[in-house]
Amino acid sequence: MTTAAATTSTAPPGDVAARAGARFRQRYAAEPAGRWAAPGRVNLIGEHTDYNDGFVLPFALPLRTVVAAAPRDDERWTVCSELSDDPVEFGPADADEPGRVTGWAAYVAGVVWALRAAGHAVAGARLSVASDVPVGSGLSSSAAIEAAVLTALVDLSGLDLPADRWPRLAQRAENGYVGAPTGIMDQSAVIRARPGHALFLDCRTEQVEHIPFDLSAAGLAMLVIDSRAPHRHIDGEYASRRRSCERAASQLGIPALRDVPADGLDAALARLDDDETRRRVRHVVTENQRVLDSVALLRAGRVRDVGPLLTASHASMRDDFEITVAEIDTAVEAALAAGAYGARMTGGGFGGCVLALVEASAADTVAAAVAAAYAERRFTAPGTRTVLPAGGAHRVD
Ligand code: ADP
Ligand code: MG
Repeated sequence: MTTAAATTSTAPPGDVAARAGARFRQRYAAEPAGRWAAPGRVNLIGEHTDYNDGFVLPFALPLRTVVAAAPRDDERWTVCSELSDDPVEFGPADADEPGRVTGWAAYVAGVVWALRAAGHAVAGARLSVASDVPVGSGLSSSAAIEAAVLTALVDLSGLDLPADRWPRLAQRAENGYVGAPTGIMDQSAVIRARPGHALFLDCRTEQVEHIPFDLSAAGLAMLVIDSRAPHRHIDGEYASRRRSCERAASQLGIPALRDVPADGLDAALARLDDDETRRRVRHVVTENQRVLDSVALLRAGRVRDVGPLLTASHASMRDDFEITVAEIDTAVEAALAAGAYGARMTGGGFGGCVLALVEASAADTVAAAVAAAYAERRFTAPGTRTVLPAGGAHRVD
């Protein structure tokens, strides 16, 4: 990522596709049959609502993972990536047993596994992966590689598989083969997103709706600030938040916290027996409502007015859900003080990225203010990008 002082848009989309193709030729001494791409994503609003059967509003980034691929005569798969020197090869027996392919190639084997388990004949293939999506920053490089590989294999295998079934398959690859317990948001966003739109996803019904989110038409930009907060082991924190929510739902006698309406919040809180649980519930219920309010504002073309909802979401994550860290809070405060319409942490918490909604002309000023606040506290410099909502997985050529 670039430094905050030199905020830039993303690299031209051709570059990463060119790298995937060049690597394919170099590694396999052959021409790829085609290239397929899928983007990273961020969640505009709706944090920790997914496993409460609630609402999320992600959009796709102009950062992409591209797979160059060609079929081969036998039923085997070879994959190489810029991230690793060694290509990995596996056959049907490896793909059919989660755990046989490990490391980064498990994301590829997982897609083959999910397709085969659903009864599809997957063509053997050689694949080469290149990516502009930073790994492990919460921008979902994992969903990007899954979706790019899935799109390539569906095409190469000539499968008649409607795109609305792809997110489930990619999610299964990550849950069932890689072993990471993610919800359906990431895969839905990177597969189904449309340029200039956010994807309103109901995590209970899995229904999606494309909501106009044309930042550039409104003269706005979104900063994605990588907090560079040191990596923390957050699996336990995530699990304990999730347990709290499930326990509260069962105390309230409802399937999930989604079933507490915003105007029923006080009554629900009065029925819970400890303060911490009350705060967790208040976050989830108010956050669901903020997603619905954001959707209503965007539908009405009032993009700037979403800003205060982003900031309220951040306060709720900081004070009620208690999942922010010093770097993240610093970035949010500095962005707001420098004139952002709104700012919030995005992603599961304890690090990752901050979003700041800004006037396009103020992007550099806000990015510089965040960098200065970081320098003052001697944090590792943040990485800042300006992004516009992009489209989902597709064939490049
Ligand atoms: P995030 O999705 O937030 O970036 P994850 O931990 O969920 O972080 O997924 C990152 C993992 O996905 C990487 O460690 C790697 O195993 C795999 N991955 C992502 N992009 C690539 C890529 N371009 N090439 C190979 N593996 C990748
Ligand atoms: Mg991921």
